[in-house]
Amino acid sequence: MPAHDTRLIDLGKRYWLPVYKPRELILDHGKGARVWDTQGRDYVDFGAGIAVNALGHQDPDLLAALTAQAHKLWHSSNVFYTEPPLRLAEELVQACGFAERVFLCNSGAEANEAAIKLVRKWAAAQGRPPERRVIVTFHGSFHGRTLATVTATAQPKYQQGYEPLPAGFRYVAFNDPSALEAAFAANDVAAVMLEPVQGEGGVLPAAPGFLQRIRALCDAHDALLVLDEIQCGMGRTGTLFAHEQDQVRPDIVTLAKALGCGFPIGALLAGPKVAEVMQYGAHGTTFGGNPLAAAVARVALRKLASPSVRLNVEHQANALRAGLAEINQASGLFAEVRGRGLMIGAVLADAWKGNAAAILDHAAGHGLLLLQAGPDVLRFLPPLTIDDDELAEGLARLGAALRDFVAG
Ligand SMILES: *Cc1c(COP(=O)(O)O)cnc(C)c1O
Repeated sequence: MPAHDTRLIDLGKRYWLPVYKPRELILDHGKGARVWDTQGRDYVDFGAGIAVNALGHQDPDLLAALTAQAHKLWHSSNVFYTEPPLRLAEELVQACGFAERVFLCNSGAEANEAAIKLVRKWAAAQGRPPERRVIVTFHGSFHGRTLATVTATAQPKYQQGYEPLPAGFRYVAFNDPSALEAAFAANDVAAVMLEPVQGEGGVLPAAPGFLQRIRALCDAHDALLVLDEIQCGMGRTGTLFAHEQDQVRPDIVTLAKALGCGFPIGALLAGPKVAEVMQYGAHGTTFGGNPLAAAVARVALRKLASPSVRLNVEHQANALRAGLAEINQASGLFAEVRGRGLMIGAVLADAWKGNAAAILDHAAGHGLLLLQAGPDVLRFLPPLTIDDDELAEGLARLGAALRDFVAG
């Protein structure tokens, strides 16, 4: 592999707060499901910037929307109206079928932070004392890095050292209906918050019927159902919203990642129970609903909701699973391949546990951008528009990388 510009990489090592450990390559430009580095090497993109670049790189319609808006107005703040966020809010409400109002922000953590505040405000408006405003979340979940969302994230590794954490969260085993029922025993639960498919926690879908069970428990105890679709939403699992497949009606849904297909934007969708809870001054943001971001997100929403994207997700998900099965037949590396649509996790077999990061290094060396979900799961999140050739090439490179890895 040709040497990368180590002087440039050294800037990151010298000046960034070292909270990341990026692979040592510098990406320069992309097209479709391919990305090129500054050395001119190409990579098949099976990570899409962590489920963000759902329409691949340089989608012409996104580019047109961004440049058109860039020549008009970049920012106005929410003390004045601009057209793109007004239209986007209407289009999101129409697309989701349950929400009445939308709050636009800039990231996933902010969308979840708003959801947590909305739950608390709703419970407060009902006259519930603070100790009866508990939010239940699940082991293995990931909801963001702000203090409240990292507290909602029921994984100690994200929380350690940040204590004291905000109060009022309770953690329950995922996909365990009786544990959840027990969590309601004290009658102090204001909301249950979860990802319909856990992402960072290992690409783990909610079991069939689990969301419906949660909905029923929430209804019985007058609690809200909050779905974090930041990673699994926007067409990723084969439907615009993952929860459509679970046939539940949530009270709040949060979106980010693919909502802007690479332009930062997040959203909270509020159903009828909570749509009027927050009034003037209750919450706010300087950048949220920025016209550049909203103009891009409108196009992203239209395209990601289209039948052609949905069909491609189904088609390429089958191809990806078939390719992984073939690789596994030869290598026995995977204990299980799971997920929904183009959100797929390959769980490493016991003998290879802990090696996801090492495999990612080999993948990059073979021209494949791949993600992990913890130390034991390879995570596949390609653009939803990836074509047959790109997918086949990515699988071929994965096969070569894994042979290389196994050979030591
Ligand atoms: C990425 C992610 C978040 C946090 O989003 P940021 O934009 O990084 O703040 C929250 N929830 C889920 C499910 C995510 O995948």
